[in-house]
Amino acid sequence: MAGERRFRGPIDLHTHSSVSDGTESPSQLIRAAAAAGLGTVALTDHDSTAGWPEAARMAGEVGITLIRGMEFSTRERFTSVHLLAYLFDPSDAGIVAETARIRAARLTRAEQMVERIGADYELTWDDVLAQTTEGATVGRPHIADALVARGLVLTRSEAFAGILHWEAGYYQPHYAPDPLFAIRLVRAAGGVPVLAHPATRGLAHMLPEKRLAEMVEAGLFGLELEHRENEPAAKARLYELAAKYGLAVTGSSDYHGTGKPNRLGENTTSSEVLEQIIEQGTGTPPIYG
Ligand code: AMP
Ligand code: FE
Ligand code: FE
Ligand code: ZN
Repeated sequence: MAGERRFRGPIDLHTHSSVSDGTESPSQLIRAAAAAGLGTVALTDHDSTAGWPEAARMAGEVGITLIRGMEFSTRERFTSVHLLAYLFDPSDAGIVAETARIRAARLTRAEQMVERIGADYELTWDDVLAQTTEGATVGRPHIADALVARGLVLTRSEAFAGILHWEAGYYQPHYAPDPLFAIRLVRAAGGVPVLAHPATRGLAHMLPEKRLAEMVEAGLFGLELEHRENEPAAKARLYELAAKYGLAVTGSSDYHGTGKPNRLGENTTSSEVLEQIIEQGTGTPPIYG
C-alpha cells in the first residue's frame, strides 16, 4: 500500500494535550515531540478527537508522523480501564455518541466532586473552569490544577495523593462503558484497540485471564506493557499472556506536558508493531509529516 513504511522512529503512541488533561495545546505537543527527537507520535486525548485537526497541521509543518488516536474511558466493575484506540473513523456514529456521553458524565462528576471539596476547602467550580480549555474532557487533573492555583497543594501529584484520592472521601466515579463494548466499537470504526497501562494495579488486582481472553475475542490488538506505571510482576505475567493470545506489545510515555513526570519517548513501540497498527487501522490514515 502506498505510504507504508514511510514513518520514522522513535515511536511514542500515547500522549495528551489540553484537549483533555495535558498542559500543552495539540500544536505545542507536536512541536515538543519533534524537539524530543521522536519520528512518530500518537495524540491520544481522553474521550475526544477534537485535537486531531490542529495536531495534523503541525505534524506536516514539523515533519513528524502522526497517528491519530484516543484514550477511551471504560469501566470494569469498580475499576477504571483505559483503552487506547488508533486510526479509527472519528465521525463513526457509535464513537461520537459514546464519547459525548462519557464527556458529559465526566463534567457532572467533576462538578459534584468540586461541590463536596468546596464544603471543606476554598475551591469553586469557576476555579476549575479557569484551568480548563473550552470543550476539554474534564477530569481530576483539572481539579488538581485548581487546587494548585488556590495554593492548597503544590502539585498535581500531591492533589492525587491527597484530596483527589478515592480514599479521601471526595472521589466519585463517572459513567464509562464496558471494555468489551468499547473494543467492538473501535474495531467497527476501523480502529485498533490497545489496553493502556494494564499492569498498574499489580498482580493481585490484575484483570483475570478469562476477561483478557474475552477482550481478545472482541478484537483487542495489544497491551501497553512498556509504561512507567506498570507494576513489574503484573507486567511479567501479561508478557506471558500476550504471547499466549498473540497480542502485540506497545511502549509509550503517556506524556501530559508538565502535568505528570512522564517524558516524551521514555518508552517506545517497535516499527513492526506500528506497521501492523497501520495495516489494521482503516478508519483514518496516518499523517506522514
Ligand atoms: P480521572 O479520569 O478524572 O479520574 O483522572 C485520572 C487521570 O488523572 C488519568 O488519566 C491520569 O492521566 C491523571 N493522573 C493520575 N494520577 C496523576 C498524578 N499523580 N499526577 C498527574 N496526573 C495524574
Ligand atoms: Fe490523563
Ligand atoms: Fe490512562
Ligand atoms: Zn493517558
